Formats: sequence, structure tokens, C-alpha cells
Amino acid sequence: EAKALGANTALLFREEMQLKVSERAKLEERLRAAIETGQIRPFYQPLVDLRTGDVCGFEALARWTLDDGTSISPQVFIAIAEETGLITPLFQQLLRQACSDAKQWPHHVCLSFNVSAVQMEDRLLATRLLEIVEEAGFAPQRLEIEITENALIKDPTLAAAIIDDLHAAGILVALDDFGTGYSSLSQLARYAFDKIKIDQSFVRSLGQGGSRHDKIVQALLNLSRGLEVKTTVEGIEEHHQLAYFLNEGCDIGQGYLFGKAMPFEETLPFLEHRLATLKMA
Ligand code: C2E
Ligand code: MG
Ligand code: MG
Ligand code: MG
Repeated sequence: EAKALGANTALLFREEMQLKVSERAKLEERLRAAIETGQIRPFYQPLVDLRTGDVCGFEALARWTLDDGTSISPQVFIAIAEETGLITPLFQQLLRQACSDAKQWPHHVCLSFNVSAVQMEDRLLATRLLEIVEEAGFAPQRLEIEITENALIKDPTLAAAIIDDLHAAGILVALDDFGTGYSSLSQLARYAFDKIKIDQSFVRSLGQGGSRHDKIVQALLNLSRGLEVKTTVEGIEEHHQLAYFLNEGCDIGQGYLFGKAMPFEETLPFLEHRLATLKMA
């Protein structure tokens, strides 16, 4: 009986795998076509200076909307792009577009842009990146590159060299999703980050799981204070979360409370409206 059950399980497992493989293959083909036709575009989520309430930047987030109006999560298609080598053309296209969009914002408004783990294996990443930024006529000083902890572990020496190159070009570097990766805290001392982005999972757990969750958040904040880097808090959805991080002296907030990622056309009215609201307050 146990044997039969085992065989059954193996069969089920194989069927599931097959479905996944063919689905993935289909998705890869569609991804290739979507990049060729420019169907994947950067959207922009506001970054807010918590002390002044001013929008100090936008994070570019890739959006793939299908003809029928449904969309595929970047977590899904970025992973496929990384595995298939499509990440390079996708990255170039998104960065080019984002720079030419961001040029039209007021000068104090910066652009944050994500690079993936696979890209951190390219010694010439900074050079290639800067070429696109310069070609688009965007000031590198207004650009911030977001790197996740997991993108640092494969080759820490290479990652440190890329970060140095970015700095030499005047580009800022942020550590994304801080607290969720696998690098040890002592490792972080190797890198000269300009900013740490505290992952939204910590914000969500705030005041939910008793004092232990809150103490972890406190420790992360203490660490970034100790390292004297700016902190951004991701995933602020509610006023009590905003109040908490404002009180803790965090620098920048990001989340649905301020705004979701929007198409470029909406960013200029958003900036104007936000400024008008601030003046009234
Ligand atoms: P990320 O860089 O940490 O981006 C923040 C994610 O949190 C975004 O999800 C954003 O929509 C979401 N978010 C922001 N505020 C809130 C909030 O208040 N509540 C909730 N529930 N979510 C919030 P998104 O756009 O789905 O992107 C997921 C991840 O995909 C990004 O995480 C990033 O790692 C990756 N990604 C997106 N665009 C790109 C890209 O152009 N290149 C690369 N390499 N990765 C990208
Ligand atoms: Mg990010
Ligand atoms: Mg993040
Ligand atoms: Mg994230």
C-alpha cells in the first residue's frame, strides 16, 4: 500500500512539474515578445521625505500589462528574465525609459531603480548603466540604485567593486528589502550604502506579534543609525505606521498611504497636487 501511495505521489509530482515547465516556456516566449514590443513599462511609486512631507523621489517598478488588461507580477517575470538572460535587454529598455521620464520632474526629485542579483555578476554593470543614463541626458546624481542583500552574497568582492564604480559616477546606492536576506550583519560593513530600505514585512508586523517584532524593528533602526545611513521604510499603509517611523526619525517613507506605482503621465499632476496639499496644511 505504501508503495502504491509512493508511486502515486511521484506521478502527481511529475505532472505538476510538466505543467510548470510548459507554462514557463510559454511565459518565456511571451516575455521575449513583450520586451520586443515595449509592453513592459516602468511605473513610479512616490518616495516621501517624512519630515517635510515632500515627494523626494520615485521608485521605478516594472509593469507588464497584457492586452486583456490583466498583469503579471514583476516577481514572476523578473525571475524568468534573470534565468533566460532577458534581464539585460529588459533592464536597458526600462532604465532608458525611466531616465527620459525622470528628466521631466523637478530637480530635487530623484529616481530609484532596481538591479537584480544576476546583474551584480557583471563587472561592467556600472559602465553599462552610466552609458544609458548619459545617453538619456539624466544627471547620475539624481539616480539611486537599489540592490538586495541576496545580490551581494554570490560574489561580495565583485559587488563591492560595482558599488564603488557607481559611487565614482555620482550614483547613490541603497540596500533593498533589508532584514529579509541571507547576508550576515557583519558583512554589511563591507559596503558603503547611502541608504537602507527596511522591508515591508517589518512594517506589517509592527504592533502585531507582541514586543519581540517591535524590538527587531528597533534593532534595524539602531543599526542604520549606527552606520549613519539614511533609512527608507517600505510598505507604509496606515497612519499609525507613519507616526511610528516618523517618531523614530526615519528619513523616507514609501507605501500605499502615499501612493501606489503610477504611470509617468500621472506623476506630474501627483507632484503638483501633493505640493498644493502641503501648502494648505
Ligand atoms: P521592491 O524593489 O522591494 O519594490 C517594492 C514593492 O513593494 C513593489 O512591488 C511595490 O508595489 C510594493 N509596495 C510598495 N508599497 C506597498 C504597500 O504599502 N503595501 C504593499 N502591500 N506593497 C507595497 P512590485 O512592484 O510588485 O515589485 C516587486 C519586486 O519586483 C520589487 O521589490 C523588485 O525586487 C522587483 N522589481 C520590480 N521592478 C523591477 C525592475 O525594473 N528591475 C528589477 N531588477 N526588479 C524589479
Ligand atoms: Mg526596490
Ligand atoms: Mg524593497
Ligand atoms: Mg521587496
